[in-house]
Amino acid sequence: MKRCSRCVLPETYPNTFFDEQGVCNHCLNHRDPAPVAQDSLLSHLEEAKKRSRGYDVLVPLSGGKDSTYVLYLATKVYGLSVLAYTFDNGFLSEMALANIEAALRRTGVDHLLFKPNWDTIRRLYRSTLLGSGELCSACGIGIEHSMLKVSADWDIPLILRGGSAMERGSYSPENIYDVNRFKAIVADAGEVSEDELNRFLIYPDITPERRFEWTWVLRRFGQLMNPLEFGDIQTEVEISKLLSEEMGWQDRGKHSDCWAEPFSNLVRELRHGYSRRACQLSNLIRAGEMTRETALALLAEQRQEEAASKNRVFDRLELSASDMDVIASAPPYQYNRYVAAPSGPVRKLAHRLVLKARYGLRHWQGYA
Ligand SMILES: [Zn+2]
Repeated sequence: MKRCSRCVLPETYPNTFFDEQGVCNHCLNHRDPAPVAQDSLLSHLEEAKKRSRGYDVLVPLSGGKDSTYVLYLATKVYGLSVLAYTFDNGFLSEMALANIEAALRRTGVDHLLFKPNWDTIRRLYRSTLLGSGELCSACGIGIEHSMLKVSADWDIPLILRGGSAMERGSYSPENIYDVNRFKAIVADAGEVSEDELNRFLIYPDITPERRFEWTWVLRRFGQLMNPLEFGDIQTEVEISKLLSEEMGWQDRGKHSDCWAEPFSNLVRELRHGYSRRACQLSNLIRAGEMTRETALALLAEQRQEEAASKNRVFDRLELSASDMDVIASAPPYQYNRYVAAPSGPVRKLAHRLVLKARYGLRHWQGYA
């Protein structure tokens, strides 16, 4: 497989072209992001403090680097009253659980853990994996809906959710977190009853317009912000060092909060021709934080982990060996006709605002 000679992006990544030296257009067009003043973030934090009925902010905590860093900023830098919240997707690694415990000890915040019953979520994972070739939908939708529910029930005005620039361009191109699409896949699979699905979704009938209204007009849901997009940009190495010193955080040099990730990377590569990991590592190379040699070594290392991760996922979801062919051959985009596509100016505006609400107050267009 041909890869860019500067990053590690394969030629199969969409809209990728190479110059005579074999450098991809994503590298050639890359510009380092300029630091963004913290004023806007600080004014939102001040407003959250004023509106607070106890907790100023909700911090979803997975035990990964981004969410642990957000908890560090919220408590130790901004001095906010925080409720931390973890959605147990059934794949949290031991390292993630240890990191969560260490972070809670160091910050002394209250913590809520929500663990949907495994029987239901197992059938939801099976349904989307066999029906659409994607494992992550149920987890992403589960986190998002339960996070909104917690913010509504505890009356928390602001949700601080970390997302680093390293993730850019690495998300699935298939709208896998769209609720309409998810419902269509689950209905076709027939493994989960409507009552079970509705209980899992908490807000089964939420539309982009309603979400916008509940967030920005009625202020029932907390507003979402990504604090990592403000202030001086710290390197991944600096953040890792800080977190290990201040939060007791451990890192094995890779995304380690979900043990199913090597498997989901494998499936992405089989179905779309590139893994999420290759995109993330390429972003780090472009930011000058990693050499190409290290990235290639990490990709090879992940390859070693794919088989074990796959076996563990198959075991947990009660899949058989022949199911791998079904998963790998699921046609891309087959469910995209169900996506709540915006039509008309009002729906389009609402959809854009929901993306803004979902992905933070800046750079959100990059994720759309
Ligand atoms: Zn490149």
